[in-house]
Amino acid sequence: MKTSYLIKTGEINLKGDNKKLFEKKLFNNIKYQLDGLRVRIKGNSGRFYLEQLDEETTETKRKIEKTLLSVFGVVGYSIARKINKNMNEIEETVLETAAEACSDAGNSLSFKINAKRADKSFKPDSYELSCILGKLVLDKFPSLKVDVNNPDFIINVEIREKAIIYSRVFKGQGGLPAGAAGKGLLLLSGGIDSPVAGFMMAKRGCTIEAIHFDTYPYTSEQSKEKVISIAEKLSEYLPSLVLHIVPFTETQIFIQQNCMPDEITLLSRAAMMNIAHFQAEKIRANSIITGECLSQVASQTAESLRFTGSKTDYPILRPLIGLDKEEIIIKAREIGTYDISILPYMDCCSVFAPARPLVKPFFSKMKKSWEIPGLERHIIKAFEGIESINIR
Ligand code: ATP
Ligand code: MG
Repeated sequence: MKTSYLIKTGEINLKGDNKKLFEKKLFNNIKYQLDGLRVRIKGNSGRFYLEQLDEETTETKRKIEKTLLSVFGVVGYSIARKINKNMNEIEETVLETAAEACSDAGNSLSFKINAKRADKSFKPDSYELSCILGKLVLDKFPSLKVDVNNPDFIINVEIREKAIIYSRVFKGQGGLPAGAAGKGLLLLSGGIDSPVAGFMMAKRGCTIEAIHFDTYPYTSEQSKEKVISIAEKLSEYLPSLVLHIVPFTETQIFIQQNCMPDEITLLSRAAMMNIAHFQAEKIRANSIITGECLSQVASQTAESLRFTGSKTDYPILRPLIGLDKEEIIIKAREIGTYDISILPYMDCCSVFAPARPLVKPFFSKMKKSWEIPGLERHIIKAFEGIESINIR
């Protein structure tokens, strides 16, 4: 018998007339992540079955499981056994499923049989079926007990065109399938925050391209390698990822030499936003994503964000804006970027940071400071010098 994966989707089911489009995107993303492995996905109403079309091996099963755990739009999956609607087969399979649940979590557990009949011609009815199968499991595993309100595990038995039996639910990422919300351009630094921001917006359905501002030789070759490693990790959750590297050194130095020291960070951030704006236009993104978080540092107060944000008219998505650093770190650990982000290679923001940056800049004053003759030329040159790397 081939493994059948019962996939549950969540928010996609609330999409009304667009539901089919979202489902199609999800299935395409799953197939794309499976990278050539042929599968069939069928079903409806938030419950779909995925089956492999070619020969099944431990490796192909692992690949499917990894994909279902990482792709956005899947709330959870179970390994389902699809068998004939025959009581002997059903009993045998329920016992096998109970044995597996016990080996996963010990045998002094409570359980419940959840039997449902979509095919009303099948006898016994749902209630009787639950009782018969419950007794069977208790006879075979006497240390288990039944708890219908708060069981440690549930064995689901569904009588449809076939009998379907499944128990454990493996939790997926949830969210919406990549592409459902268009493309966002992520400002990716070497820090902890920005990859988490990218992950969170990808979970809301954005496909992602990333842009990094590089200030070699003031920052090292390793700090660029670190950003590439972070992008590689992030790409595990995405159907594709391109990283655009901006040669930012000349612009950064030019700003430093032509403005008041306390304005360096803000003007640099504004220049980054401006270059990101042009790149977003070029790649047809519909938004810019940053890892900014309110009041984390001087350049992220509401006053500072007003100024830096004024250099684009794209919506700036800042999913971390209200999170504490601790909360961001937990998420960074979960997605696997934290250990790379804490490698000790400096980013331009730390290298060029003034001792006393402006915390609450006046908007009109900053607008004047931005008018440095020659700045626009540097911004255009940096934009034209972008090098793009296909990460996935
Ligand atoms: P952390 O705060 O953990 O050091 P961070 O990536 O958030 O990391 P910040 O200095 O807080 O760094 O910058 C705020 C945001 O600005 C980042 O999340 C990122 O979106 C953007 N940013 C900063 N520096 C760069 C850079 N060199 N290249 C691209 N984006 C950057
Ligand atoms: Mg930050």
